[in-house]
Amino acid sequence: MEKEQTKKAKGKVSEKMANSKFHSLFVDNLKDIYWAEKHLVKELPKMSASATSNVLKECIDDHLEETKEHVSRLEKAFEHLGLEPEAKKCEAMAGLVKEAHELIDETQDDSMVRDCGIILAAQKVEHYEIATYGSLAAWAQKMKHNNVAKLLLSTLEEEKNVDEKLTEIADDDVNEQGAEE
Ligand code: FE
Ligand code: FE
Repeated sequence: MEKEQTKKAKGKVSEKMANSKFHSLFVDNLKDIYWAEKHLVKELPKMSASATSNVLKECIDDHLEETKEHVSRLEKAFEHLGLEPEAKKCEAMAGLVKEAHELIDETQDDSMVRDCGIILAAQKVEHYEIATYGSLAAWAQKMKHNNVAKLLLSTLEEEKNVDEKLTEIADDDVNEQGAEE
């Protein structure tokens, strides 16, 4: 499989780069986050549907649209590297999403405590993405994949923004009402 990648990458990425261990670790992690983003496109609507407060629902719905864009940015990144987009199961994201489902199951419908839990789960997801895009953008810059770095940095910015938005929602609305229930 590695050989096939190298072949496809020819022309876009120098042969030396395509064969480097750093580059193949980079591509491997792009596949991981690609799987994670596609998984989130399926899962965010469930989180939004389970949320009680409209402001949290809206925040998740808006981020779903951004997440679809994250998927297509990654497809563009693969294209820049001369590769077919390929997803590799991200066990970490699968686990974080499973945890979100558990939080939802363990809390009551239409409760603000459930929203507190959804925010916790969502912020864990965002922090995973922030860590991933932060490192991958730095690696892309190091390898002079400048177009790819630009794409990854755009997504990183959106992940950071939604993380801040979730903190605001927790501070302004949800935590206090959750504490009163
Ligand atoms: Fe994302
Ligand atoms: Fe995100």
